[in-house]
Amino acid sequence: MAESSEAGKVFCDALFRDAKGRIIEPPCFDAEVLGGVDDQAVGGSVATTAGVAATVSAATVVSAATVVSAVADSHCHLDMLSNPGLALARAAAHHVDFIVSVVDPSEEPERTYGQLPEWCHQAEVLLAEWQQPVRQAPSVRVIVGCHPHNASRYDEQLQEVLLDLVHQPLTAAIGEIGLDYHYDASPRKVQREVFRRQLEIARRLDLPVALHLREAHADGLEILNADGWPTSGVLLHCYTLGKDDMVPFLEKGASLAFGGALTFKKLEHLRKAAALAPLESIMTETDAPFMAPEPLRGTVADPAHTVFTAACLAALRSNDKLGQREVLGQLHLNAERFFRGTAAAEAMDRDPLRYD
Ligand SMILES: [Zn+2]
Repeated sequence: MAESSEAGKVFCDALFRDAKGRIIEPPCFDAEVLGGVDDQAVGGSVATTAGVAATVSAATVVSAATVVSAVADSHCHLDMLSNPGLALARAAAHHVDFIVSVVDPSEEPERTYGQLPEWCHQAEVLLAEWQQPVRQAPSVRVIVGCHPHNASRYDEQLQEVLLDLVHQPLTAAIGEIGLDYHYDASPRKVQREVFRRQLEIARRLDLPVALHLREAHADGLEILNADGWPTSGVLLHCYTLGKDDMVPFLEKGASLAFGGALTFKKLEHLRKAAALAPLESIMTETDAPFMAPEPLRGTVADPAHTVFTAACLAALRSNDKLGQREVLGQLHLNAERFFRGTAAAEAMDRDPLRYD
């Protein structure tokens, strides 16, 4: 393996690569937001943290842009990623400093709750190795809920597991719960019943809810209106519909999260919706490992990809009066407020030795 020079300590594993393996520069925010792109190009062989020498040309290696305003990934599945520690390090290197990871009580929930401290520790080791200015792993919150696909597995026993996890210090919301009539992996009647039962838990425990609704928005609304909207907040994750469909949710005070789909060329109607929704009611997300944004489509998404969606949203929402920095700041605040979670989780964020 080639000896890497000081300048060659390019954090190769943190670079963005498209489906063809080409290195993609992080999105450029406007000059006001960009804290200075360190485009110090490094040629020759550079060592990746996996110990594999990668040959890169001087023209293609660019260290990450310094986005002054941090961004939040309000919905991802760390436990579905092949290397969650690496994903957290990549996220931190790209200023994604707040991450919400989804756990399903019917699918090895102990993986995230048990291993998160270790993943964060691994991330901090990598950040130091990469000589990143950011050395701290992102703050992570967990949301727990039985996905509509798994509704058939929901019974009293599973509900006990869910109730136990809900009381873990890292848990900030119930989710993702809802209805998925696209795949119909569980019978619709069962999906509705399981959705209602989990909504009832959220209402009783005063927890916010992250909704997964696919081709089932009308039924979702009907249930929420009939049973009652959780007062601690409702977030419609992975919003992909147009401006009219968001109205009944926004009227009830719900928030919308936009993921990689926002960057898809064909989804102009979605960008229209994102441009019109109240700024206090929208957030960024990835749904990693699913739905990588442009120009990374076809790759496995990870939380670091939030910066592409954030760039798109910042461009859509900034204007003469509101710079991209303010837009990004508000988006971050929205996620932090919604998923603030317990005092114990907040204390963990502040404790530099929390993962030792
Ligand atoms: Zn999801």
